[in-house]
Amino acid sequence: MRKKIAAGNWKMNTTPAEGVKLVSEILGKVSEVEGDVELIVCPPYTHLATILDKVKGSRIMVGAQNCAWELSGAFTGEISITTLKEMGVTHVIIGHSERREFFHESDEMMLKKVRLTLSHGLIPIFCIGEKLAEREKGIQFEVVVKQMEKVVYQLSEDDLKKVIIAYEPVWAIGTGKTATPEQAQDMHGFIRNSISKQYSSAVANTIPILYGGSVKGANAKEIFSMPDVDGGLIGGASLSVSEYIEIAKSF
Ligand code: PGA
Repeated sequence: MRKKIAAGNWKMNTTPAEGVKLVSEILGKVSEVEGDVELIVCPPYTHLATILDKVKGSRIMVGAQNCAWELSGAFTGEISITTLKEMGVTHVIIGHSERREFFHESDEMMLKKVRLTLSHGLIPIFCIGEKLAEREKGIQFEVVVKQMEKVVYQLSEDDLKKVIIAYEPVWAIGTGKTATPEQAQDMHGFIRNSISKQYSSAVANTIPILYGGSVKGANAKEIFSMPDVDGGLIGGASLSVSEYIEIAKSF
């Protein structure tokens, strides 16, 4: 049985006060989410401490949206994995398409981040996904497998087993245009199959693969019902308590 995960990527939204209010309201409704669904919130760095304090003792886990590719030193503006670990952060989103596009993150950088995250005992949520033009050309599977090869296929089997993959077609992020459940399943099945070929089917069957891209309360059930979809990485809708809880209840 693979984990079921509802991870909220708040992106650059909420002030510290708004973030605490949001997580407090989520906490108030968490008992509505039955079963062993893992709930992860990824607020901006500046709110991590207060939010970690707020969720202490609850089932909500806290992730960061990024980390530095080096451990310490002259990297103005960056936050290291050791800081995140000491704070109590458990997950780190790595390779989000917005970081690839706006911050020109290279595969080498992402691989370093994934390795540092794993070696410090945190869980990377590694994002992959094709752009609209790539899907229109019909090369989405090649694009995604290349993203995997450059980063997570560089890992040992033991390390790969600890990674969460998030498939996020770039054309579906923040656009309101969701992949159909079939499109999501096609890609998730392909990714799992590819992991199986590279490593083993045992490994492939343990790795959670999340779908991301305009997931909301109204479409989560259908998407999560697909056999290779293990949950969602949720942007916009994770900022609404009722939407996020509805999504978390959609397994
Ligand atoms: P979205 O974002 O749910 O707002 O489309 C998802 C993501 O970028 O992780």
